[in-house]
Amino acid sequence: MNKRFQIILFLIIPFFFLDAQEKELISITNLRTNLEVLASDEFEGREAATRGDRLSQLFIISELKKSGVKPLSEYPDYRMPIELTLTRISDKSTFAIDYGEGADKRVIKFGEEIASWSKFRSDTVLNFPVVFVGYGLELPDKGWNDYDGIDVRGKLVIIASGVPKALNPESDPSVEEQFSSAKVFTAYGKGAAGIIFTGDKSIEDEWSSLSKPAISLSSKVSTKNPGRGVFLLKEEGLKKLLAGSPLSPEEYIQKHSAGEKLPSFNLGQNGTMDIKAAQEKGYTSNIIGYIEGIDSVLKDEFVAIGAHYDHVGVTRGEVYNGADDDGSGVVAVLEVARALVKAKKFRRSVLIVLHGGEEKGLLGASYLSDNFGSMDKIITQINIDMVGREHPDSIYSVGSAKISSELKTIVEEVNKKTVNFAFNYKFDEPDDPNRIYERSDHYHYARKGIPVVFFYDYMLEDYHQPGDDTDKISFEKIKKVSELIYHLSIRLANLDKRLTPDKQAD
Ligand SMILES: [Zn+2]
Repeated sequence: MNKRFQIILFLIIPFFFLDAQEKELISITNLRTNLEVLASDEFEGREAATRGDRLSQLFIISELKKSGVKPLSEYPDYRMPIELTLTRISDKSTFAIDYGEGADKRVIKFGEEIASWSKFRSDTVLNFPVVFVGYGLELPDKGWNDYDGIDVRGKLVIIASGVPKALNPESDPSVEEQFSSAKVFTAYGKGAAGIIFTGDKSIEDEWSSLSKPAISLSSKVSTKNPGRGVFLLKEEGLKKLLAGSPLSPEEYIQKHSAGEKLPSFNLGQNGTMDIKAAQEKGYTSNIIGYIEGIDSVLKDEFVAIGAHYDHVGVTRGEVYNGADDDGSGVVAVLEVARALVKAKKFRRSVLIVLHGGEEKGLLGASYLSDNFGSMDKIITQINIDMVGREHPDSIYSVGSAKISSELKTIVEEVNKKTVNFAFNYKFDEPDDPNRIYERSDHYHYARKGIPVVFFYDYMLEDYHQPGDDTDKISFEKIKKVSELIYHLSIRLANLDKRLTPDKQAD
């Protein structure tokens, strides 16, 4: 071998090795393969307490086992089971309008002709006068007012769908959409006690999603009902109510389909929503495993890494696959766990938690924070929720200085030395209107005084939409996030002392 060739080899080989090692650390192939499973239609959108939820648990557990992540003795099959209470509005519920002495009481049945958009969690009776207010629009600059001469304070208002022709809905397709939220604001602004939307084909489309239950932890069942309800009434139900009123069902159909002005008037004498809540049990789990540290004392403490595996399920026959939310976080955690098992040289243990029921109100994290026996052993929690879409070279870093500013310093140092993301701290502002800091699993760790850092990509376009699919994911981005978390968790696991809190938990 001549010298020149040796030098060339010397220059080239280390790079080859480095490259191979880097590829080994976090594998894009693994990230992609796992996400293609979790975000496939087979997993039915991974909604809590459904078949897709259970399939996701099985898949995650098999991946953890394959990587050599161990279960805790308390949860030998990696599952921390969580009992849930599912509350639906029973089909025994009714909406009845009293048309006065001698007249029939007309009864509209829930589930058949009327459904509730608002989640009622216990039996309740809403008893209010009912008014029909046409299209429910008050637009003085356009010379239109459906509320002219009618007082809706403390009343249930029935609002017809759509926009009258006079307002030129054809000229701008967004007009109709703008007006539907305007209708809610206007009615509530005028003191309405509830809103009943009617007469729209889209109501039929929404029907199946309205039968989804409200879900809470059985250990903390909420019986709180919404202050005011929003209901959807099928056209058949409305026709039943309009018979004998100032607007006959035939007139209504003719005028509404022509986009003509509809009258506003009181309907009957009083309306009663008799809402009966039906409860049943359901189950989900947090999936928990750990990678043991090598220090005989410190290994009893944990650096926790987490993401939520659930998503929002199926609506109107469409699967909401949740590739970014939070399939991206789950595959990153699985891949970091695999790399950490291989690294095997850190002092504290690393706790891997894939939370269930996040989309139903951070249920898994909430349950864990109140029931996990080693909560006080967790020195910090790193949460990732949506890390595969926006901004290839930057990421939102949330909450790292809320409890211990030392954590923020460490996260910044590790980041600088490794993937070097530009951190965006926008969501750390105390008056963040989105309240992002409170909206993912880390919040329940922070509530217990554990310093947390949350990484998030702020994807808006397909957020909780059927378009949150694997084909839009940047696996390079998830890889970078995974590398950051890998190095960060090792650095935290090796700290001599726990992080010093310098602020009280929010
Ligand atoms: Zn999420």
